[in-house]
Order: sequence, then C-alpha cells, then structure tokens
Amino acid sequence: MPRSCYVHIPFCGSICYYCGFCKRLATDDLKTKWLDQIKKEIQNKTISKLDTLYFGGGTPNLLSKEMFADLALSFSGSLTEDHEWTVECNPEYITKDQLQMFHEWGVNRLSIGVQSFQDRLLKKIGRPHNAKQALEAIDLCQKLGFDNLSIDLMYGLPDQSLDDVIQDLKIFFSLGVDHLSIYSLQIEENSIFGKQGILPCDEDLEADMFEEIVKLCKEHGFEHYEISSFTRNHRYSKHNLVYWTDQDFYGIGCGATGREKGILYENTKDINAYCIRGPMPSFLSETKDERAFDAIMMSLRTQFGLDVSAWEKRYGINFFERYQKVLNHYLGTYLRWENKRLAPTEKGMEILNTILVDFLDEN
Ligand code: SF4
Repeated sequence: MPRSCYVHIPFCGSICYYCGFCKRLATDDLKTKWLDQIKKEIQNKTISKLDTLYFGGGTPNLLSKEMFADLALSFSGSLTEDHEWTVECNPEYITKDQLQMFHEWGVNRLSIGVQSFQDRLLKKIGRPHNAKQALEAIDLCQKLGFDNLSIDLMYGLPDQSLDDVIQDLKIFFSLGVDHLSIYSLQIEENSIFGKQGILPCDEDLEADMFEEIVKLCKEHGFEHYEISSFTRNHRYSKHNLVYWTDQDFYGIGCGATGREKGILYENTKDINAYCIRGPMPSFLSETKDERAFDAIMMSLRTQFGLDVSAWEKRYGINFFERYQKVLNHYLGTYLRWENKRLAPTEKGMEILNTILVDFLDEN
C-alpha cells in the first residue's frame, strides 16, 4: 500500500499565462460537486497510513475554510505521527485564519508560488499578486509558526535578465526560508503563452541563469539536492522524494497522477466528467524496460541518485551489462558512485538530459 498521496485541487482565481496544468476558474456549485466526488474517491482507496500528503493544484488555498475542512477530514486518522503534509498556496489568498486552520488539521509544510519578487515580471506572466503581497504572506506564515516553507521561483521569463534572477535570489536569501524550487519557463502548447506564440528564453541565457542560481544557492549554504530544488538544514521535500525514488503513491482528484503496485495512472482532466463519473483513471501500459528507465531518469534528478542493486532486484536486469558503455563515458566528471548509489555530479546535473538519452539508447 502506498504511504504517500497527491491530491489535485484544480481551481484557480485567474489563469497564469504560462500554465499548462489541469485547472479551472470555478463556480461554488462546481466546487461543491467536485468535493462530493473527491470524498468518494478517497473513501474508495481505503488509505490506511500516510507518511506524506500533498495538496497541489490549481490553487489549494483558494478552497473555503469549510471545504478545506471537509476534505481534510477524509484523511484524519491516516497520517502518521511524523507525517509531512504540504499545501501549495498562492500568496494572495493566505490569511491568518487560513494558516491557523492549516495548523489545526496538521498541515506542516507550505509551498508558496511566488515566481518572482518583481512586479513587472509578475504582470508579464499573469500572476495576480504583487511582490509586497508575497513578502507579507511569507512573513505571516513564519509568524504563525510555519518553519517548513518552500518558495517557488521561475527563471527564463520574457524580459527577465540575469540581474533580475540575482535580485530575486537576494530577496529569497533574506527571508530565512529553507527550501527553494526554481523552474525555467516552459512554453506549454495549451497555455496562453503557447497560443500567443511566445518564444522560449535564449538557451545560453537560460544556462547562465541556472549556473548563477546554483552558484548563489551554494554560497548561501543551500544543497542542490534535485535539479530544481535547493535546501538547507536538510529540509528535503519528503513527498517529492517518493517520486524521485521509484515509490508508489496515490493520485487523487481530477487531473491527478498516481502509481499503485508499480502501475502509473492518470485521472481524467475533464472536471465536468469527473464530477459525474469520478476519476476514470487511464492506466499507462509501460513495459518493464520503460519502468526501469523511468526509475533511472527520476533518481538521477537527485544528488542521492539510484540504488543500483535495489533497481537490479526490482527489474531483474543486470545494470552493468546494460549500461557499461554509458558508465564508461560519464563516470568521473558527470556521474559518481556514492555508497553504492549512482548519482550525478554538479556538472552531470547540467547535462542530465543528454546523459538520459544515452541511457535510453541502451534500453
Ligand atoms: S500556475 Fe498555478 S495558479 Fe497559475 S493558473 Fe496554473 S495552476 Fe493556477
């Protein structure tokens, strides 16, 4: 039985220009129907024990207090004593009342979607909040005792310079927050930017930005523990580590992905259909080789890397026979062994996609 659960809350107050996620502007009536359905879905899973619970979106903290409580009640009794329960939050909806309620239910980690501390850039990407609101929201979370915070930032945005990225990081470092997730802008076909034909950031500039991000984070005592994630004081995202270490997790709600007994599934993204007929998961028919490659791909995103003997046992494949050529090519500068795990070096993280293509070619 999985010990982790992702819950997708697909409602937003406005639509960001870059967004390709499953989300909707919604009426209260639709939210009520959705809530009835998701509670049934949770019940049908008969979840017993959870070490990590993650409410992602969409904008989970857009739910009213009553709706949140109703949803949270479905998990009462399932969470272990030292659980990690993360809720993704947009700064403009964070209130004292809401944070107190989160505390009461056992939410102990907040992931705040800031994206940039510069109003000019926030406007460009269609975020409804400004920098002041974000700073006030972070301050409020800290004052109310949320010490496990993560901030989301973005780089490679239209009109964003290297100096803009540095300014955002300087502000981030001044906040005393222990976790940063920082993503480069991807132009998704189904996003407003995709439809407007906005071009992605120049590759060289994006690479320079990434290099600077890694450098500055390290200078400020942050571990680069996953391609897009940095932490100090070992505040790793326990939930995301489940994805990166080839473990099962429940995926609940319209637009959620999960994996049970090693089989990946995706719930319907059609919220009207979800409200009537439930999650209607499509099961991804991956071959054993595809699953084995996915495990390599996810593990090599992190500095903890791949437990090769566990992988060999699980997939019945001799790792060294299959990948000797790749190892010969990359070990040393780009890949390293640590405690019998194969992990990327910092340089390896920079060219991870190239390394993975070479692994894939041997499949
Ligand atoms: S980026 Fe997040 S907040 Fe913005 S529209 Fe997408 S899901 Fe909603």
